[in-house]
Amino acid sequence: MKEFNVIDHFFKAKSIQRKDVIVGIGDDGAVTHIPQGQALVTTTDTLLSGVHFLPETSPHAIAQKAVAVNLSDLAAMGAEPAWISLSLSLPAVDEAWLEAFSNGLQEHAEYYSVQLIGGDTVQGPLAITITAQGFVPFDQALTRSQAQPGDSIYVTGTLGDAGLGLDIAQKKYVLEDQLNTDYLLNRLNYPTPRLMAGTCLRRVASACIDVSDGLVSDISHILKASGCGATVHIDKLPMSQALKESVSSQQAIDYALSAGDDYELLFTVSEEQKGHLETTLANANVHATYIGQLNGSVGKLEFRQADKPYEFNVKGYQHF
Ligand code: ADP
Ligand code: MG
Repeated sequence: MKEFNVIDHFFKAKSIQRKDVIVGIGDDGAVTHIPQGQALVTTTDTLLSGVHFLPETSPHAIAQKAVAVNLSDLAAMGAEPAWISLSLSLPAVDEAWLEAFSNGLQEHAEYYSVQLIGGDTVQGPLAITITAQGFVPFDQALTRSQAQPGDSIYVTGTLGDAGLGLDIAQKKYVLEDQLNTDYLLNRLNYPTPRLMAGTCLRRVASACIDVSDGLVSDISHILKASGCGATVHIDKLPMSQALKESVSSQQAIDYALSAGDDYELLFTVSEEQKGHLETTLANANVHATYIGQLNGSVGKLEFRQADKPYEFNVKGYQHF
C-alpha cells in the first residue's frame, strides 16, 4: 500500500465530520472555524516506542493513549477538544497493525467528538505525535501561574495506579488478583482525559496541570510558575483499592507521589471559590480530593503525615 492509500484507507475513511472543519484530510492544510469569543488551545505530545509505551503494547492502546494524553493537556487548560492531527513514523506498512491502530483512534475520535484533520506519514522508528486543538472562552483558560498562597490543592481520581501498572507490565510484580491486575494495566494503557473536570474548573481553579510525570514533579511546575510553596498531606493522597491491596502502604505512597502516567488533574482553588467548586463538581459528578495547601515559601514543597514532617526524595519521571 502506498502512503496516500494508507492515509485514505485507515485515516480519512474513518474520520468523523465536524461542522467546523471546512477542509480536512487530503489538501495541503486543514481549514477550520473557531467560534466567536473562544480562544484556540493547541498542544502536542509524542509517544515513542520503548520510552512512552512498551514495544509489546497493542496498537489499539497506543492510539487511544496518544489521543488521551493530548486531550488531557486540553483538559488541564480548561479546553473542550475539537481537532487532532497525527504524525506517524512507522518502520513498515503493517496492515494489521494499522487496522488496530486506526480503529483505536477512530473510537476515541467518535467518543470525544474530535476530528482528525491531517497529519504526516513517514517511514522510521515507531513514533506517534498528535497535536490536539480545542476551545476555551477567551479569558477562561486555566494556567499554571495564577495560584496564590492560601489556595487549597486538589487532585481528581486516584494516584499511582499507572505506575504500578507499568511495573506489572514489565513483570517486576505479579499480582495474585486478576481484577486488580487488569484495573492497573488499564490505568496505564487506557488513561482517561479529565475533560469534564477541566471545563468545570474554568473560573473556579486558580491553577491547573495534568499529572503526567508524577505528583511531585507536576506540582512543582505550579509552584515555580506561581511563585508559591506547598504542604501536601500524605494521608489524604487518593489511592485506588487496587493499589492499596497490591503493595505495602509505603510503596503505595511512593507510587502516588512519584509515578507518572495517571493523567489526573491537579488544581488549586482559593478560599472564596471553594463553595463554588463543590457545587460544580457535584453537579458534573466529578470526584476530586483535597490534598494540601499552598503557602508563601517560594518553591518549597513539604509533606506531612499524621502532622509530622514526612521525608520524600524520589523524583518524577525526567527525560533528561
Ligand atoms: P503533503 O505532501 O502536502 O504534506 P501528504 O502527502 O503528507 O501531503 O499528506 C496528504 C494529506 O493527508 C494531507 O492532508 C495530510 O494532512 C494528510 N495526512 C498525512 N498523513 C496523515 C496521517 N497519518 N493522519 C491523518 N492525515 C494524514
Ligand atoms: Mg507530508
